[in-house]
Amino acid sequence: MRRVTILGATGSIGQNTLDLIARDPEAYQVEALTGSTNIDLLARDAVRLRARLAVTACEPLYRDLRDRLAGTGIEVAAGPAAVAEAAARPVDWTMNAIVGAAGLMPGLEALRHGGTLALANKETMVAAGPSVMQAARESGATILPVDSEHSAIFQALRGEDARAVERVVLTASGGAFRDWPLERLARATVEEASSHPNWAMGQRITIDSASMFNKALEMIEARELFGLVPSAIEVVVHPESLVHAVVGFRDGAMMAHLGAPDMRHAIGFALNYPDRAELPVARLDLAAIGRLTFRPPEDARYPALALARRVMEEGGLTGAAFNAAKEVALDAFLARRLGFTDMATVVTRALDRLAGDDAMPRLSSGDAVPGLGDVLEADRIARLRAGEAVAGLKG
Ligand code: NAD
Ligand code: MG
Repeated sequence: MRRVTILGATGSIGQNTLDLIARDPEAYQVEALTGSTNIDLLARDAVRLRARLAVTACEPLYRDLRDRLAGTGIEVAAGPAAVAEAAARPVDWTMNAIVGAAGLMPGLEALRHGGTLALANKETMVAAGPSVMQAARESGATILPVDSEHSAIFQALRGEDARAVERVVLTASGGAFRDWPLERLARATVEEASSHPNWAMGQRITIDSASMFNKALEMIEARELFGLVPSAIEVVVHPESLVHAVVGFRDGAMMAHLGAPDMRHAIGFALNYPDRAELPVARLDLAAIGRLTFRPPEDARYPALALARRVMEEGGLTGAAFNAAKEVALDAFLARRLGFTDMATVVTRALDRLAGDDAMPRLSSGDAVPGLGDVLEADRIARLRAGEAVAGLKG
């Protein structure tokens, strides 16, 4: 029996993870499930999967969860510290499927006890990649990427010499607005941005796909996970979403990873690693598909990609600031306080302001790995500056 914990169990990735685990209940002991506002789902899954502990990140919902689980023997807790405490309990395998910077501290706790961390929460790598990789080295934990592109790269690199890698090509569907006239983008609504052409995902990542902030995060995630130089990371629009990434080697060979757009592939790979187990995903019929298409991303449509290059060049705490500013801009768009194209403007202005901002923690040039305290402070200041940029745009 493998002991597993699923952080963010009620979300899109979390539910796909539980789907795989529930198919083989004898193989797993579920230690903890965490969620936030969807108490019904969290409680139902905790009972169904006989979890030992259920945690909501949302403190005011403690009583609701406790009442729903009364008499089941399942331990109940609430609040961000309780989520981190759940992650700290030793298990063999942890899925981090929390959305946003809230996944950072629980992810680090999971790394401290060793075992395997299946990492869907890309924000962790963007905000604090070097600290995360260092925590894994110190405890001997294994990080397995769950983002489909990064799982694809990981798979293409199996048995290869990392020094022979010349380039990595991340594919992007182009999101909801890939074929819209540019001048219409400013008026795009939350509803329009929330529907993805190929993937069923949480709302935040779906909107980030339309703006390509998701791909921007993934470029930085790839750099941190695989130790790539920024110039080796490319993005290509691939509307079919069947090729998930391509790795190019110095002999000119390119290894592509293909599969149906179903996150249970990447999740299942991480769950069964180093084995390949049978997975309930659709098989591709290449002859029926006929053709795969690729095109360059347009700079004017996707300003987030240039921002990612800037973040990678600046390094240090810029990733933490970038992610935080992006989260604030997305919140404002979701609250209908910002237009769709304003999100990139807000992030750009926040980063511009932070460049000469005395409130930002300063790293000494010798600091290869920014400390966690500095990361959290950079996140906090960037949220303030992004909030000011939102207010400035509205006013
Ligand atoms: P989602 O919104 O569907 O689910 C998010 C989960 O995080 C939920 O369980 C929610 O309860 C929990 N959560 C939300 N706020 C929290 C907080 N403050 N503290 C603790 N928990 C909190 O999101 P998702 O689409 O499943 O994505 C999860 C992560 O995986 C994101 O980082 C996303 O970028 C990444 N990812 C998702 C997909 C996908 O197909 N959905 C693909 C690749 C990567
Ligand atoms: Mg992805």
